[in-house]
Amino acid sequence: MKTIGLLGGMSWQSSLDYYRAINEGVLHQLGGLHSGKVILYSLDFAAIAKLQHEGDWQGTADILIKAALNIQAAGADFLLICTNTMHKLAPEIEAVIDIPLLHIADTTAEILVDKGIKTVGLLGTGFTMEQDFYKGRLTEQFGLQVIVPPKPDRDFIHKVIYQELCLGNIKADSKSEYLRIIDRLHAQGAQAVILGCTEIGMLVKQADTDIELFDTTAIHAQQAVKYAIMD
Ligand code: GLU
Repeated sequence: MKTIGLLGGMSWQSSLDYYRAINEGVLHQLGGLHSGKVILYSLDFAAIAKLQHEGDWQGTADILIKAALNIQAAGADFLLICTNTMHKLAPEIEAVIDIPLLHIADTTAEILVDKGIKTVGLLGTGFTMEQDFYKGRLTEQFGLQVIVPPKPDRDFIHKVIYQELCLGNIKADSKSEYLRIIDRLHAQGAQAVILGCTEIGMLVKQADTDIELFDTTAIHAQQAVKYAIMD
């Protein structure tokens, strides 16, 4: 079994979900006392969030690149960046490591394409919903049409991620708003919705809606398990 490197702490709430999902996935596949071989490097998210909101992506790149190299040196066979937003830096990180990077948007898009989905809604941080590094990849590499919510809804989703979910606060009002936004994306033609932030699955579950949801945390972790145990 390969050793999975996790670049986490963004936030630690979702890194917990990764750790649990990977171990449950390995147990499901291999049974008995099997568990994942995992190296987790968990960053202090306060520093990252501050730099993000100041637009200092080079500052975030310096921190993430150092952590990724440490994970590689510790013996990981491949790397997961445990946040959608910080895949903005995927090219910079891939350029300095020798191990493969399992890209969160690619693992998710492959499943959408397999299921025949062509138009998809996207929820995530403002960075993920508004910048091209994520939406562009879904469109250019996988031919998906991506719909994002309007600006006031994007601002609300972003605020809930940083002020509630990354702190582990799950609020019923926020959940209702997210579900309203998901319904609206569906009404605009989205056949399914990507939960494109690794904390959103803490708030909204598939059981809450008939609209098909693709939780990037769960998918990324599942694909990591598959890759880890394949020959
Ligand atoms: N975990 C979140 C994501 O998947 C947001 C935190 C971050 O900015 O990294 O985008």
